[in-house]
Amino acid sequence: MQIANETAVWLQYTLRNDAGEILDASEDNEPLVYIHGQGDIVPGLEKALEGKAAGTKFKVTVSPEEGYGVRSNTKVQTVPRTAFEDDAEIEPGTQFQAEGPDGVSIVTVVEIADDEVTIDANHPLAGENLHFEIEVVKLRAATPEELEHGHVHEGGHHHH
Ligand code: ZN
Repeated sequence: MQIANETAVWLQYTLRNDAGEILDASEDNEPLVYIHGQGDIVPGLEKALEGKAAGTKFKVTVSPEEGYGVRSNTKVQTVPRTAFEDDAEIEPGTQFQAEGPDGVSIVTVVEIADDEVTIDANHPLAGENLHFEIEVVKLRAATPEELEHGHVHEGGHHHH
């Protein structure tokens, strides 16, 4: 069996940046599980996984365009301090979720001046080349119910 649309895929991964620093990785006994072809993972990685068999190990570098996007200066904005609640603990590097026209995004506080806060709504990994090291652990066809739910039912999934 090879990875194609509607395949349930278990994989172990390590994600590094250009400097070789680990940005993210799956836990040893907890592979990432996703259904192929739904856009659950970044497009460049999904494309690279297409056609792979269980047991395959490979490395792939995904460009920002096919990863978390290129950085956009228009997503860096200055807002008044009063836009935050008085007791909100914000400092450079603080991240929070914000609801915008494109859905929920992660916003990072860049700088705080007297009464103004500079925030960055770019994805924290926008502009990064993503160096993935992948091991395809297991494959099977997703069930009709899983396809309907958009996720795999296994390993303690809370059924809903
Ligand atoms: Zn479900």
